[in-house]
Amino acid sequence: MKKIVVKFGGSSLASADQFKKAGDIIRADKGRRFVVPSAPGKRFSDDTKVTDLLYACYALAEEGQDFTAELKTIKDRYYEIIHGLELDLSLEDQFQEIEKQFKQQAGTDYAASRGEYLNGIIMAGYLGYEFVDAAEVVCFDENGNFIPDQTNEALSKRLKDAECAVIPGFYGAREDGTVQTFSRGGSDITGSIVAKAVKADLYENWTDVSGFLVADPRIISNPEVITTITYKELRELSYMGATVLHEDAIFPVRKEGIPINIKNTNAPEDPGTMIVANTCQQSKYTITGIAGTKDFVAVNIEKDMMHAEIGFGKKVLEVFEDNGVSFEHVPSGIDTMTVFVNQAAFLEKEQEILSQLQRNCQPDSIDLEPNLALIAVVGRGMKSHRGTAGRIFSALAHANVNVKMIDQGSSELNIIIGVANADFRDAIKAIYDIFVTIQL
Ligand code: ASP
Repeated sequence: MKKIVVKFGGSSLASADQFKKAGDIIRADKGRRFVVPSAPGKRFSDDTKVTDLLYACYALAEEGQDFTAELKTIKDRYYEIIHGLELDLSLEDQFQEIEKQFKQQAGTDYAASRGEYLNGIIMAGYLGYEFVDAAEVVCFDENGNFIPDQTNEALSKRLKDAECAVIPGFYGAREDGTVQTFSRGGSDITGSIVAKAVKADLYENWTDVSGFLVADPRIISNPEVITTITYKELRELSYMGATVLHEDAIFPVRKEGIPINIKNTNAPEDPGTMIVANTCQQSKYTITGIAGTKDFVAVNIEKDMMHAEIGFGKKVLEVFEDNGVSFEHVPSGIDTMTVFVNQAAFLEKEQEILSQLQRNCQPDSIDLEPNLALIAVVGRGMKSHRGTAGRIFSALAHANVNVKMIDQGSSELNIIIGVANADFRDAIKAIYDIFVTIQL
């Protein structure tokens, strides 16, 4: 029998009705034996996620203030689900313990993790699955770093004989028992870790969209869904701002060759997006996706005979390193070098960086160009297609977008384009149209 790990995001478990949809999905395939729930998310657009309620409640506890009302709001959210599912389940003991731990200041991570912990107990009760507390099987070291090997060992041992189990997402614990969470959205990582530990055939990640979209729906109305994407392509797109899956969620399954299927809890019949290690399936439009981020600065450094000065680039990049500013791209000319950096991070250290560049590198001039956006056009299909770059740039020219920077990775998997922030939307529209809408 197939082994499938299913992770449900917060909006898929925000209410009893959503829980029922998840339950129907799980029961529809006997292979769906391992379930990783998030905490209840938003029921409507200006609702608050339980995780955020927990953070706010714990902030009061930390200041020594009364948090009774806030904890009651959280409790009500869970009982609304329990009653809606007509479950005979009490969380009184758990809430008493949480109150006690909050008063003893058990930590922000402990507080946030209770969202998944309690939802896991409900899910296990609802499905009749075994509940496995993630604190016992997901391991962090004393500095709060996740320990993959130890976790894999503990988790595979614990789940070896489990027929069906619910493992709450988002958290684990350090050796001394202190609860520790991943970064926000981290239940995706738990799902991936569980999939690896049980050697799953498939990791299904259920959310509220029918997969990854070719472009941001806030810019393109009703963009196409990506049917298949490779891990590498996904890395490129998520790095540039496409969000659906936590960036770190691909590492545990990637090495094991376990595919991830992004699915929509509200439209389970939609095929969603398959994320795979490799495929010879051609993407429909040459490109797989477009993503971008605004607010970068180009630091242009000019120096006569720069090309003959061995180690010049190193000196420049060291200045950024010393100031803790990471660089995105470094296009260069014979006597010029440009460093693209995040604008907010740069601004914090602007004067230090500029004077250090002046001192260490003695350039002829430094020129700053702020308010730039970077757009990544990603696609495994580019390698075997002539003219992809040509199409991108003629589309941009027709849309009156001035291209400030071009960078094609040697893998021919992506082309990165720098444009003014003001041209960001027009540029993405033009690229989407040429490949997807018009399909020249
Ligand atoms: N509940 C956590 C969050 O809101 C983790 C998750 O949902 O994956 O970030």
